[in-house]
Amino acid sequence: MLYFDHNATSPLIPAAREAWLSAVERFPANPSSPHRWGARAAHALDQARVTAAGFLGCSPGDLVWTAGATESANALFHHLSTRSDGIALISGIEHPCIRASARRWFGPRVEEIPVSTAGLVDLDWLEFRLNSGGVACVAVMAANNETGVLQPWQAAGSMARSRSVPFVCDAVQWLGKMPAKGVGECDFVVGSAHKFGGPVGVGLMKVPKGFVPLIHGGPQEEGRRAGTENVPGVLAMMAAWEAREPLASAPALGERVAWRDRFLDWLLTSYPECRIVGTGAERLWNTASVLMPPHADCRRRWIVQLDRAGVAASTGSACSSGKEQASHVLLAMGCPENETDRMIRFSAGWDTRETDWESLAQKIVEAGNRLVG
Ligand code: PLP
Repeated sequence: MLYFDHNATSPLIPAAREAWLSAVERFPANPSSPHRWGARAAHALDQARVTAAGFLGCSPGDLVWTAGATESANALFHHLSTRSDGIALISGIEHPCIRASARRWFGPRVEEIPVSTAGLVDLDWLEFRLNSGGVACVAVMAANNETGVLQPWQAAGSMARSRSVPFVCDAVQWLGKMPAKGVGECDFVVGSAHKFGGPVGVGLMKVPKGFVPLIHGGPQEEGRRAGTENVPGVLAMMAAWEAREPLASAPALGERVAWRDRFLDWLLTSYPECRIVGTGAERLWNTASVLMPPHADCRRRWIVQLDRAGVAASTGSACSSGKEQASHVLLAMGCPENETDRMIRFSAGWDTRETDWESLAQKIVEAGNRLVG
């Protein structure tokens, strides 16, 4: 199978699997237990926290282990809602876990930051809105999961912080693909292991002191998140991150961008009706989101034929109860609603080679022929 769905889940890498198995053997006890085995497990978590903080550029004490980004997002907006009666300003292209958490805890006090047709957050709008006052927090993701467009999170964060407004960054698609350094300067950060080759169901959040917990029932994580920590999960996540961070921080990402772009050039030449989503903006090296040729009345049919041809790709956005919904990301970018149903996302991993992008091109021809044949 040609796997082009890494933005959904990047399969567990061997180093993470080894770390998980080894942790189960070496740290069998509860990290809160008062005996030596407990202390050893707690020490392993502390070391992992130091490594993660080193990558992000923050203090280890700011990091809390969670069961993933959706949990973290819910916890963050819960905390923020206890701090201010103001407005939560979130970008119009945030992941549903940020959108739904903000709505859950701020109710009608949520406003969306518009984006350009290239999918970039409008910083002028943000500055103007911040100057009007009454803002409780700002949330701008680091990289969009559907389009791969890299957001100006550093600039948005500085704008918010210079007005003492807390800044939230969903760094789920950034971490493990782009250099983590500096992400820890954001007041609140969420990250998730299964997007960079760690296990599903484990992640982290960066939160300030005095965090008001959402989950109660124990003193773990300095009272910021109750529940026994997932020691093997955390250590496997860190093994994956340690394998990925040197690649993400290397200057050689341009080569991977070139492989992706050669594929996109081929696609545009072969199918002039295609449109590349997010052109004009810098995008993650691994993501190619495309409005496919109108061979099918629904993009699910493309996915099915690609699957038959041996390609795992994705529509990139959630589908509820089997009914396809127009992507809020594409709508925010001004894409007409009837065209949103043409979007397919191809997202590569670190092991994807140029030949895989070339094979993908052949498989698209195969799938396309079946659709019109
Ligand atoms: N944020 C972004 C940008 C994502 O892409 C995802 C997963 O698709 C999430 C948050 C949710 O992550 P998790 O699966 O850890 O809850």
